[in-house]
Amino acid sequence: MQKGKKSYSIFKFKCPRCHEGELFPSKISEFTKFFEMNKRCAYCNLHFSPEPGFYFGAMFISYIITAVVFLSFVGIFILVFGISVNKTLAILFFMVCISFVYTFRLSRSIWINMMIHYNQKKVDEVAAKHANDL
Ligand SMILES: [Zn+2]
Repeated sequence: MQKGKKSYSIFKFKCPRCHEGELFPSKISEFTKFFEMNKRCAYCNLHFSPEPGFYFGAMFISYIITAVVFLSFVGIFILVFGISVNKTLAILFFMVCISFVYTFRLSRSIWINMMIHYNQKKVDEVAAKHANDL
């Protein structure tokens, strides 16, 4: 994954415009502030919530990810490994609990990346401004 590509911003949870600032104040592995998001990009000052309810659409992304990933797992568990439906549902519940935060963040990251695109001009502008401040 390289800077300037959508996949970089989406999976590294970076600002969609400059690919420098973080979307979230903490890493998932830090086990804190799971559902908090930074208000603005620390690098280019992009507002991450341009309007109230902006992330409403991210719920649909989350739904699609969950449905596709977990239905595939259910299919594989039942059809390939022959595990019973009850056991499969128990495993699925466990997996949903574990991956919930990641799915939440991923869907928001995908959503904001659908709306805002990488802007090399803005990155150069901000870099020049930062250089002038030094
Ligand atoms: Zn930014």
